[in-house]
Amino acid sequence: MTASAAPALAPLGPADTGFWTDSLAAADPEVYAAVRHELARQQDRIELIASENIASRAVLEAAGSVFTNKYAEGYPGKRYYGGCDYADVIETLAIERARQLFGCAFANVQPNSGSQMNQAVFLALLQPGDTFMGLDLNSGGHLTHGSPVNMSGKWFNPVSYGVRREDERIDMDEVLAIAKANRPKLIIAGGTAYSRVWDWEGFRRVADEVGAVLMVDLSHIAGLVAGGAHPSPFPHAHVVTTTTHKSLRGPRSGLILWDDEGLTKPINMAVFPGLQGGPLMHIVAAKAVAFREALRPEFKLYAHAVVENARALAASIEEHGLRVVSGGTDNHSMLVDLTARSVTGKDAEKALDRAWLTTNKNGIPFDTRSPFVTSGIRLGTPAGTTRGFGVAEFRAIGRLIAQVVDGVATAGAGGEGAVEESVRAEVAGLCARFPVYPGM
Ligand SMILES: *Cc1c(COP(=O)(O)O)cnc(C)c1O
Repeated sequence: MTASAAPALAPLGPADTGFWTDSLAAADPEVYAAVRHELARQQDRIELIASENIASRAVLEAAGSVFTNKYAEGYPGKRYYGGCDYADVIETLAIERARQLFGCAFANVQPNSGSQMNQAVFLALLQPGDTFMGLDLNSGGHLTHGSPVNMSGKWFNPVSYGVRREDERIDMDEVLAIAKANRPKLIIAGGTAYSRVWDWEGFRRVADEVGAVLMVDLSHIAGLVAGGAHPSPFPHAHVVTTTTHKSLRGPRSGLILWDDEGLTKPINMAVFPGLQGGPLMHIVAAKAVAFREALRPEFKLYAHAVVENARALAASIEEHGLRVVSGGTDNHSMLVDLTARSVTGKDAEKALDRAWLTTNKNGIPFDTRSPFVTSGIRLGTPAGTTRGFGVAEFRAIGRLIAQVVDGVATAGAGGEGAVEESVRAEVAGLCARFPVYPGM
């Protein structure tokens, strides 16, 4: 069995296809088959990619709704097209729910993606060439926080802060020193692979000291903040951006939040007409549904379970002899350092894929290998927690990961076939006990 082999499937047919594929099956068998295989992949493998989740059927239904047909350039009550009555209803619901969920005064629910929400803030608040500060990519920052291959790094002047060598945590004294030396106009807190609590208040003090705007990119941990499992960036941040598809468990999209009315015009103008045309109204509808779900009391339990599960996974991985960066996690994610096993992130990702454990290779702080190889893998618990895994299951997953990595350490990049096969069998058992989209 190779990494690319699809899981065994029943013959394709319209009988058990769920709510949207009946007509797709007839109209386009090739796309339909890929959708079926993707559904089976999500059902039969364990998703450990920290940025992924499993949206509810209600979110999928809204995302697959007739709102995809509607042009609604502008904002509720101020559109450039007729027939926007119901578009106004869903966008207003999405805005109201987002404000309630995060406890802030204003929201723009139109950004099509996480990258576009960040571009919109840059367009609203910076001029090309302006200096801004963000977390270094090797320490867990995002491409849009100043990577040289991203627009943020090409058209602006990024300065980065990192983590301390000793404990792999952000050093607020260093953040202040770098800010004072470079006088950025904007400071970004937040990232994609930082597993410790963010000191929002400390970042605001630094921003105030140098007269910078504090932007918090909450993408990875938005669901934890919404569920009360990580401190909120409000009232410290001037502007908060977040994706809606990660721990927040909504559709693939972006969201901008703020408190100061003075930012309303620049931010709204930057999203439309500055950067985007017609908003994806079907996705705005799906965001409204996801925000309603996140406002329910059960979501608090979910958010806390995500963190508890991540702690259990990190502890299990360490007990099985692998090193977790910074010695553990406070959120949904962790980086595993494979250096001591002489295994690369690339080889580990492939071996884990063969065992139906889906992860991604990821640079670790001070990594000496290229981003295409890396010395680590990143793991996250949001998707597994959604399907119902608890501490016992995540402890087992930690053991399975260590077994597969040890197989690569002893047998080379090809891994230990027998180990990978037995892990795959255990993964299949776990997946069968905790089904994803039962009945779809
Ligand atoms: C995922 C992520 C983004 C970008 O989101 P896309 O929807 O993939 O463009 C931006 N910032 C952070 C911190 C992220 O984790």
